[in-house]
Amino acid sequence: MEKRSLQKHHADDADLQVILILSGAFALGILPFVVIRFMASDWPVFLLDVIALVINLAMFFYVLITKRTTLARWGISGLCVSVMTLTIYLKGADNIFWVYPALTSLFFMLRPGYAVIFSSLFLLSSTIMVWPQMTTLAMAQFLITSSSTLMFCFAFSYRMRQQKKELNNLATHDPLTGVANRRALEETLLSIIERITRHPNQRASLLMIDLDKFKSINDEHGHAIGDALLVHFADTVRQRLRASDGIYRYGGEEFVVIAENTSLDEAGILAESLRLAVQENMMHEGLKLTISVGVAEYIAGESSYRWLERADMALYRAKETGRNVCCTA
Ligand code: GH3
Ligand code: MG
Ligand code: MG
Repeated sequence: MEKRSLQKHHADDADLQVILILSGAFALGILPFVVIRFMASDWPVFLLDVIALVINLAMFFYVLITKRTTLARWGISGLCVSVMTLTIYLKGADNIFWVYPALTSLFFMLRPGYAVIFSSLFLLSSTIMVWPQMTTLAMAQFLITSSSTLMFCFAFSYRMRQQKKELNNLATHDPLTGVANRRALEETLLSIIERITRHPNQRASLLMIDLDKFKSINDEHGHAIGDALLVHFADTVRQRLRASDGIYRYGGEEFVVIAENTSLDEAGILAESLRLAVQENMMHEGLKLTISVGVAEYIAGESSYRWLERADMALYRAKETGRNVCCTA
């Protein structure tokens, strides 16, 4: 088995950057107004801006240090909307243009559904506040431009979110069998190890499955039949797993099943039931498919590489024993 370090993929790095850039821009944007309000001795707005600046900077460093974004997303959104609402309340219709960046930023911070609810409420309260101060024409212009901005932002962020889901699915699934791929396996192993390290009484086992004599099946019946068998095999196993278990394509005709909250003995029983299911269900037109399985339970302190390696060694023994067998590590 190829030795490589298993690294956690930071899928959310881009999200983190967006939050940092937005809160950084917010701080830089508000700074000149703190100075202007101070020079003009406009104390209520000065105080408001200072509070906003301090909270925003706190969020910026919180995200930078902890790499957690949920609190900051809601915090910065709430801050942005409340500061803008109060500014419009205190300073009147002159400040209505701030509605646009505030509204847009909500769609960067929150899910499209939440952002649309939050920004609609924000628009409504701003409209009620400035209504008496604006002409009918100006009001109509404001309503049309702000609501169309809201709709465009919603459409854009909804599409981005869908594309992100599709990309994530492509990156973590095997296109042939539809099961999760090796990249997804590495992430799952790391999160299981993190969890067992925190809760040492929990357990997890891993089944390394290899299709027997698969090369000769390809050679005799063709690659297309080989592919169809791989798909059929993955379905056969998937149907027999619990919701908390998962099957991953490790490489070529090698698959890994992860069984959470499962001891070595229980995983051995699962492996045996899968071996029998394949032996009984995957026979057609004179073609007989069998599997060999190596089983290993996670041992506290070992790396994911070592865990896979022990399952692989058990699999090697199963092959040595004559194939169509399960061995435990
Ligand atoms: P063993 O019982 O020792 O595992 O024998 P084997 O023939 O299965 O082992 P070997 O590793 O020599 O061959 C694996 C074969 O799996 C070789 C390769 O052609 C085939 N294979 C790997 N990926 C795919 C695939 O995506 N589609 C098809 N059709 N065949 C594949
Ligand atoms: Mg193999
Ligand atoms: Mg094989």
